[in-house]
Amino acid sequence: AAPTALRVGTGRGAQLGILVKGPDTLERARRIDTIVLNKTGTVTEGRMRLTSVIAAEGESREEILALAGAVERASEHPIARAIDEAGGSALPVEGFAALPGRGVEGWVAGKWVLAGRRELLVERWGELPDSLEKALAEAVGTVIVVGWDGLARGVLVIADAVKPMSARAIRDLKALGLSPLLLTGDRASVAARVAAEVGVNFVLAGLLPEGKVEAIRALQRQGRVVAMIGDGVNDAAALAQADLGIATTTDRAIEASDITLVRGDLRVASDAIRLSRRILTTIK
Ligand code: ADP
Ligand code: MG
Repeated sequence: AAPTALRVGTGRGAQLGILVKGPDTLERARRIDTIVLNKTGTVTEGRMRLTSVIAAEGESREEILALAGAVERASEHPIARAIDEAGGSALPVEGFAALPGRGVEGWVAGKWVLAGRRELLVERWGELPDSLEKALAEAVGTVIVVGWDGLARGVLVIADAVKPMSARAIRDLKALGLSPLLLTGDRASVAARVAAEVGVNFVLAGLLPEGKVEAIRALQRQGRVVAMIGDGVNDAAALAQADLGIATTTDRAIEASDITLVRGDLRVASDAIRLSRRILTTIK
């Protein structure tokens, strides 16, 4: 009887927009007690929008946007699209490299351009000019520091709205007895604001991709059984480390995950957990 019940269950899952990988996935889903949510693209829309460009003294905002736009063009991060839509240039790039969860770099118009998190530029080129530190402290939103030829020269500020359904979805997950936690590579001020907006009390921010993996491992060492939901940009390793990986979009996330939410809809996550509990109760 068990195999039939499972087959029925996964069929019902497909109807709900849940693709389940492997026969033991539902059994694992049933034991989950902690749910780790990636911020960008999972709790937020992941449709980032450039809200301002701040130039250090003597620098041009147009040039900052053009060079950042060029070097970001090959990146799959939502940050890249935000800059492109705001009029990032079509200048050719050579020697492009993506530094996962940190930024991008490459040659543009004879300049070695770096765009990414503050720590990346400090690590490479030393302290930022005071005016940029001030801009970072005052900016509300995700920030990207842009520089070239050994000097940080500007800051891009980017906004991303919370999905209208996120607060409701998180309430559903809590009602199932799961404890939600927001995990992100973005800075703490942005993470805290999003968490407050959707009713999540635990936040881990500023993490590199390997830090996300380590955070999940730490929860597992405490005896938690962890599901992670992410869109895969910089989250594939964390999805694979989780007891249950739930992907909402990109191909890489789907590969690294056990469950795919076909419509990228966070509300479906609680359906998946509820479904796994129901099916396994039927089997037993
Ligand atoms: P999240 O965990 O919210 O999905 P990421 O781990 O993808 O965030 O990114 C964390 C941070 O790393 C970003 O907020 C940004 O500062 C920096 N970063 C990542 N990718 C890029 C990129 N393509 N260009 C510039 N900065 C980036
Ligand atoms: Mg992400």
